[in-house]
Amino acid sequence: MKAQNLVRCAFYSRGVNEAFARGMLAAFLAQADPTVPQLADIKTAVSEAVTNCIVHAYPNGVGLVRLTAALYEGGLVRITVADKGVGIPDVEQAMQPLFTTGNPEERAGLGFAVMQSFMDTVKVSSAPGRGTRVVLTKRLSPRG
Ligand code: ATP
Ligand code: MG
Repeated sequence: MKAQNLVRCAFYSRGVNEAFARGMLAAFLAQADPTVPQLADIKTAVSEAVTNCIVHAYPNGVGLVRLTAALYEGGLVRITVADKGVGIPDVEQAMQPLFTTGNPEERAGLGFAVMQSFMDTVKVSSAPGRGTRVVLTKRLSPRG
């Protein structure tokens, strides 16, 4: 299926860019006229995916995070967040609620659970040493 519109950008895995990603997404999705809750859900999910790249993907420095947002017919939104970092050895385990390899005082291990609860679908593919790609979709149901 071909997107009706698409934007793609890349930014360094620095904490300040989480706000950039949220803002860029809001600016792009405005054309689809989302409701405030719909936009909030998508921004929350994407910020979890971007934060994961910032926190986990490049433990020895910074690297690029690639964010793609696309709009399809019928109000389908598809967002891809990808990095070329360390990757995830066991994706199924990583997606379990409360699983974290981060500092347990800072991380709850709930990022993927949040993405799953706020989006219609969450697909994660990853290869150790090669990077991780998270694809999030949500259909913007018509305002009722
Ligand atoms: P929280 O999101 O609650 O702060 P968390 O980031 O550890 O904690 P999740 O977002 O659910 O929890 O991620 C689970 C685990 O998956 C992480 O601890 C990390 O090991 C791994 N992970 C997630 N995203 C990436 C990524 N982009 N690169 C490498 N590892 C990742
Ligand atoms: Mg996380």
